[in-house]
Amino acid sequence: MPIHPLQIKDAMTTIDSAQIERAAAHDARLDQACEVMHAAYARGWITHRDGNVSVRAEGGDGMWISESGVVKARLQPHQMLHVGAARVAEGPVPDGASGEYALHRRLQAMLHTGHDTVLHLHPTHIVAAMYAGHDLRELCEAFPEVTRYSRVGDNVGALPATSEELAVACAEAFKPRLGPMPHIVGLDRHGVVAIGRSPWDAYEHVERLEHVCQMVLASGVRHAATARTLAPGALAAQAA
Ligand SMILES: [Zn+2]
Repeated sequence: MPIHPLQIKDAMTTIDSAQIERAAAHDARLDQACEVMHAAYARGWITHRDGNVSVRAEGGDGMWISESGVVKARLQPHQMLHVGAARVAEGPVPDGASGEYALHRRLQAMLHTGHDTVLHLHPTHIVAAMYAGHDLRELCEAFPEVTRYSRVGDNVGALPATSEELAVACAEAFKPRLGPMPHIVGLDRHGVVAIGRSPWDAYEHVERLEHVCQMVLASGVRHAATARTLAPGALAAQAA
């Protein structure tokens, strides 16, 4: 019987079993976390190994986080690692955990009651909109599709993936300011981070923002906020 690539990867993964447990298949939220990564791949929001997801553990004992290097397009519950609260408090990346562990660790600690998911993806139109110079929070202000359900935070600047610097900047962008903390924040030249009450809830925040970015980019209008506030005559003068 041929050996599947995922089986090879599993055999090579080093896990400190004293600190980290493999996922118990009975936790439906882990199934959901996997479904969300499959859906993200199907939508073209990640290449097959990219992205990562974490879910707060039941009873508050740390979190479950996707393994590093596994194929997220086919993520399975046994590829989610449990990192206990004591290990989370220590800080260093546990063996086998996602390269963006630092980001998940900081954001999981900030989640409001009822929220349990941190989701990181690379959606094409969100990244394209930031690359084109859009501030995502400003871009969404005129779109009730987003503003009714999702709070968009300030863009995070282009910082190295998996760095502590990126994790700190993300946590800063998710800090509550005039209202509750944002649901979603864009990472320039990289992707997006969303929080949610479940993996699918976090996914919905990504989907709304991605859809609006797609529409704005399709319009060809460079700065949505400018287009919204200028009179037609002024727009014509600007285009001349
Ligand atoms: Zn990434």
